[in-house]
Amino acid sequence: MKVRRIAVLGAGTMGHGIAQVAAMSGFEVRLQDIDSERLDAARRFVDANLQKGIERGKVTEDQRQTTLNGLRTEVDLQTATDDADLVVEAAPERLSLKKEIFGRLSQLCREDTVLATNTSSLPITEIAAGTLNPSRVIGMHFFNPPHILKLLELVTAIQTTTETLELARQVGERMGKEVIIVKDSPGFATSRLGVILALEAIRMVEAGVARPEDIDKAMTLGYNHPMGPLRLTDLVGLDVRLAIADHLHREIGGDQYQAPPLLRQMVRAGKLGKKSGEGFYDWS
Ligand code: NAD
Repeated sequence: MKVRRIAVLGAGTMGHGIAQVAAMSGFEVRLQDIDSERLDAARRFVDANLQKGIERGKVTEDQRQTTLNGLRTEVDLQTATDDADLVVEAAPERLSLKKEIFGRLSQLCREDTVLATNTSSLPITEIAAGTLNPSRVIGMHFFNPPHILKLLELVTAIQTTTETLELARQVGERMGKEVIIVKDSPGFATSRLGVILALEAIRMVEAGVARPEDIDKAMTLGYNHPMGPLRLTDLVGLDVRLAIADHLHREIGGDQYQAPPLLRQMVRAGKLGKKSGEGFYDWS
């Protein structure tokens, strides 16, 4: 099947970036969110990303216009998914919410529409099980920010067919992504490892071992990581990281996924990282 139209659900940190990459790759994109203010902000963020691209000589004015013209925003789920060939869901990391969305999608969408979730850790198999046609469900895990990071982790549930995987792979490659294929298991090949580093760094801040800046510097300059684990946690969102840690702790067990009290307290205080203006760093 040739993919023409893609619906992206959730216009937050990930949704707006995925929508941008899809529109830049020539797909017709409908970005949907239950909150119209998030949709307005998403349009502004996409335009700002494109402007930055122009300043760096990576994007032309023509590409900016075509991308903005190819991206429509919608509050209504039915309108957003109308005649979509692929849906990529990027709503908050809660299994009950994702199951509810996929249940609705399987009733609203064409029978051959591929339904993908951008979850960082949740079971694709269980999300698929609540749909009318589970063979069409797959994980398409993009990385933050989606218009810069090259990786696309495709996560197959036991129900996912080869046709579904191939469609997701083709879309990913057209978006210029490097694809890895992983079987559905908690945290897949990425979050399962990445989250451990972040949680340990937060435990070190909690114990007063060093300042966040110095822990991050240790990893960037000593281990050649492009970004330290605390700055990365600020970009990902502390709430998102906490949800993933809690899920992995329930699923895999072991002390390594136990969320440090400092992380939970910061989330309760609304210190969610870059998106709220404060996390381990001041983003105001
Ligand atoms: P976010 O909180 O920034 O954005 C979520 C958006 O979903 C919000 O705009 C919210 O209004 C909207 N929303 C809530 N309920 C909805 C519904 N029923 N239908 C449509 N939209 C709804 O979250 P995020 O960081 O973009 O994360 C989204 C997903 O992507 C999560 O599953 C997360 O695990 C995954 N993910 C996040 C990152 C990251 O770095 N933040 C990276 C990879 C994957």
